[in-house]
Amino acid sequence: MGKSSKDKRDAYYRLAKEEGWRARSAYKLLQLDEEFNLFENVTRVVDLCAAPGSWSQVLSRVLIKGEKFGRAGWNEKQKDMRSYVLGLEKEKPVQMDAAEEFEKNKPREGVRIVSIDLQPMSPLEGVTMLRADITHPSTIPLLLKALDPDTFDPNATSAPHPVDLVISDGAPDVTGLHDLDIYVQSQLLWAALNLALCVLKPGGKFVAKIFRGKDVDLLFAQLKIVFERVKVAKPRSSRASSIEAFVVCEGFCPPPGFKATLDTPLGAGSQLPTPENPPAKTEMSRKVRGDGAIEIDLGDEEEGDEGDVEEAGLRWIAPFLACGDLSAYDSDATYHLPKDRISLDPVQPPTAPPYKRALEMRKLAGGAYGKTKGQE
Ligand code: SAM
Repeated sequence: MGKSSKDKRDAYYRLAKEEGWRARSAYKLLQLDEEFNLFENVTRVVDLCAAPGSWSQVLSRVLIKGEKFGRAGWNEKQKDMRSYVLGLEKEKPVQMDAAEEFEKNKPREGVRIVSIDLQPMSPLEGVTMLRADITHPSTIPLLLKALDPDTFDPNATSAPHPVDLVISDGAPDVTGLHDLDIYVQSQLLWAALNLALCVLKPGGKFVAKIFRGKDVDLLFAQLKIVFERVKVAKPRSSRASSIEAFVVCEGFCPPPGFKATLDTPLGAGSQLPTPENPPAKTEMSRKVRGDGAIEIDLGDEEEGDEGDVEEAGLRWIAPFLACGDLSAYDSDATYHLPKDRISLDPVQPPTAPPYKRALEMRKLAGGAYGKTKGQE
């Protein structure tokens, strides 16, 4: 498939290149922000599974450069430019001038952004990048050091200056076998949550990619143990055909006395609440039943925006929100672009893609299938 046919098939792929984002995923975060105002009063953030870095780019542009997107305001000129880029508008809109841009952009103070991925990433302004595995316990001291390089204590298991927001777009290499993909994805989510528990401040937010499998309501119930509000959202830029969605957890409220560590993560080993060792009752009211199941009293259920609890008290259906402006581009639609539109190259080609070695080996072997005897 050529670049230009992908441009037509995927409006967000094209927009990402036109608007300077490293990946179309940037729009997922922007549309989540549009719905949940994620970046309000946020200065310290951890971006997990961040390569090639479009979510970190969003963080850098919003927090470091003070640009406004999402609920804080996509401006009309940006919207007009998008329509033009997609061939829906014939007239090229007038660009914002530098002075006007400066007026609008107010950089925040005390910003710290740390991004982690297995893959290397090209640098971004104001972002500390770590190459590490989020499922490995050795990653936590690396993260704590990157967050507070001057006051780092190698024996610490949590951040002395915790963060406002942890985001994770982690995805395994998808096999197409749904059950396997969901399983591996849930391991990444689990690791991301445990890292978040080590660094989030009370009241903080956690946003993570999930694959919606049959036991996803159990996951929501588990998240509800440590967050006041848990919702699941599907941005318009995430293809309807994909089982991907995002949990948006707000109001971090760890049980009193809870000590996070990747060696004995939440819900495992001695930290698993039991009738003898129940989690402390908080304003959210969690109680452990005789059979060890945790019952969650959904305090704000009356407000009508929360999900349903099954009789067993363990499963909980999180409210589901389709987010992103309804007039936003449809990620499953084909846009017919005018013939004179040129197809742009990606903003940031992958630094060390996993397929690079395979291509090199194929080249050395003399092509797709190597050289056969007759060809030598
Ligand atoms: N949010 C990114 C962006 O906007 O550019 C895209 C993330 S991409 C969908 C998923 C990433 O998860 C990949 O870069 C992959 O290397 C990373 N990943 C998968 N398993 C990981 C692990 N165990 N530790 C760290 N990163 C991991």
